[in-house]
Order: sequence, then structure tokens, then C-alpha cells
Amino acid sequence: MKAFEATQRYFHRAADLLDMPDNMRTLALTAQREVQVQVTIERDDGNVATYIGYRVQHNNARGPMKGGLRFHHEVDLDEVRSLAMLMTLKTAVVNIPYGGAKGGIAVKVRDLSRRELQRLTRKFIDTIHDIIGPDIDIPAPDMGTGAEHMAWIMNQYSKYHGFSPGIVTGKPVEMYGIPGREEATGRGVGILTLKTLSRLGRKPQDTKVAIQGFGNVGSHAAKFLQEADCRVVAVSDHTGGCYNAQGLEVMNAIRYANSHEHLLEGYADGERITNEELLALDVDVLIPAAIGGVITADNVDTVKAPVIIEAANEPIRPEANDALEERGVVVVPDILANAGGVTVSYFEWAQNRQYYRWNLDRVRQELDRVLSQAFEEVWDVSKERKISLRTAAFLLGIKRVAKATVLAGIV
Ligand code: GLU
Repeated sequence: MKAFEATQRYFHRAADLLDMPDNMRTLALTAQREVQVQVTIERDDGNVATYIGYRVQHNNARGPMKGGLRFHHEVDLDEVRSLAMLMTLKTAVVNIPYGGAKGGIAVKVRDLSRRELQRLTRKFIDTIHDIIGPDIDIPAPDMGTGAEHMAWIMNQYSKYHGFSPGIVTGKPVEMYGIPGREEATGRGVGILTLKTLSRLGRKPQDTKVAIQGFGNVGSHAAKFLQEADCRVVAVSDHTGGCYNAQGLEVMNAIRYANSHEHLLEGYADGERITNEELLALDVDVLIPAAIGGVITADNVDTVKAPVIIEAANEPIRPEANDALEERGVVVVPDILANAGGVTVSYFEWAQNRQYYRWNLDRVRQELDRVLSQAFEEVWDVSKERKISLRTAAFLLGIKRVAKATVLAGIV
């Protein structure tokens, strides 16, 4: 099942509970604009290389469209469309005044030099600058992009439209960024993990956690959870990972990755394990924080964790999701679990527009407040209606978007 088909399946499940008519479903499922562009650059060796870029602007009923820009070789229109719709729901679930969008370029990041990546990013902005804007659509980091890409975007966009720090979020702190944006998604995952544990009556100090993915999200989640007294027993990236039943030294792993091209390859703490082995560990909490589609119909029976926090977008395929639901596994869905990033993006954007600086304490406090409220709301809907957290989050998000659509008189 392709990504957008999966998102539609979850959507219909919630829409059925809301008795949503077909014409409203069509409206909600149809992106406002989908753009596919050619991005051609000159490589460092003088050769010409052409890539395909996408921006899907799904919905702006609740505010300007918002969502990351992904550089990954598997990016295609179907995936971007699905992720754009998830952004619309994500911003609605955490109740920040945005719609949803997503973009990407199909490119193997490790094959390009930093200078080539800069050319690629700028060229992409050349082709889409007139359909984005601080009140229209605001990109941000996603898989394969980070603060420096965002600085290039701000600079390139400003060449056409004048000084515009609010065109993009996730910028370097020294360049109109906000402290705490980089850690925000991982920290949010950590905050929501603790909330879930507390609702289930589990104590952090009795909790073993395995995290798949040790990029920005996975590493910050690991650090936060270790500081909160959880035992992080396994981490991995695409090169494999390690498992230590006594608990890993997360800071050592982070330092190692930082000095080895952001990879854990060769890191030895406990025993080396594969990604498949990590997913099957006998832990209390499993956090897939890497790519989509890692828990499938084929490996779902090996998953033992009673709690899964979806730090990545769409890490569980729908057939696997249904099997987990049947088994009573508590899954905190991506549109809630990883919403910390876009939440702090919102603070950054608001700060940019007010020419005012927030400090890290305030960012962390507000992040905690926004995520806690969203968690309580989703949890309550799930208990009241006896539905999964995913269906509850979709239901809450769809309701908010539908309400804004009706209020605006669009239909
Ligand atoms: N790419 C992140 C996400 O999927 C962040 C988006 C943003 O900050 O706008 O939520």
C-alpha cells in the first residue's frame, strides 16, 4: 500500500465516526496545489545533473500552509502528498494556526557536496519562490535537510521578495532561528513518551526504550529520555545499532556519531544489532525515528513493545497498525508524536514577525504546554470513543479543519 492510500485509510476511519459526507471527504483529501519541478544544477565536476522537486500545498483553512522539505532518494509525489495531508492534521491536532504542506527533492544527499546541495536548494527556491511566502506556505527542515539549508532558502527567497525571515523556519539561531528548534521534535517525542507512560501507570526508571534512527529526532529523544531516568537500551541508524541491557551511554553515542559523519557505524557499547533485531527487542517503549514503513505485515509479529511512539512519519504500515491495535499495543501516532518540531517552528515564525527573541526556557515551557494539551485532548477522545490514539488524533484534526472550512464560508 502506497503512503497516500494509507493516510486515506486512516482518514476514512475517523471521517466515518464523524458521518462526514462524501463531498466533504473529497474536499479534505484533495490538495490545493501540487507542484513538480525540474531542478538542474551544475555539479562540481562541471557536469549537469537534473533532479525532480515537489511541493504539495494541501490545505490552508486554518492558516498558512506549513511543512518540511525532504531531501531523500525515495521522495515521490505520492509520499509528499501523503505527508502534506498529515501536516494539515498535525498542525490542527496541536492547534497552531497553520495548514499543511510538504516538499522534497529526490536526491541521494550523500552523493552531493555541500556546495552542490546549496546550489540545489537555491535552484529549487528559484522555481517555487512565487508560490511560497510567510503568509502562504512556510518550509522547514525534514529528512536530509537542516538549519543551513533553511538559511540558504531565506537568503534566496529574499533576493526576490526582500528581507523575509518568516519565509522558512528551522533557521540557524544566529540567523533569525529560535533556540530549541533543533531539539524540538526529539524533545517533543520525549515529552509525549513520558505523558503516555504516566497515563499507563509506568515509571520512567522501570522503562526500557529502544530507538530506531539516530539523526536529529532519535538522538534528542534518546538524550531527553535518559535525562528523565528511562533506560535507553538500544539505538541504531541505517548502518545498524547497539544494544546494552544495562542502558547505553547516550551522550557517548551522540559524541561518537558527531565525529563519524553522523553515523553509529563501528560504535561499540554492548552488542551490535541490526535494525530488524532492534524492532523486535523486548522493551517497554519502541520509538521508530528513522524512515517510513519499517513495521510491516511481515515483521509486526516480532514486535514485542507494548508502547510505540511514532517519531518518524508513517513508520507503521496500515496492515501492521491494525495488527498492533488488535493486540492492544498503544501507538502514539506521528501527527501527535512528532509535532514538537512544527510547534517550535510556529514560535520561531511568530518571533520573526514580532522582531522579538524568545529564550530557550520559554521555548521549552511553551512546547511542553502545547504538546501536553494536545496529548490530553487526543487521549480523552480515544477513551470516550473507545478508539485508538491514531483515530482519535485524526478525528480531532479533521474536526478542526472542517470547522474552519465551514466558518470561512468555503462551502
Ligand atoms: N518536517 C517537520 C514535520 O514533519 C517539521 C515541519 C515544520 O516545522 O514546519 O513535522
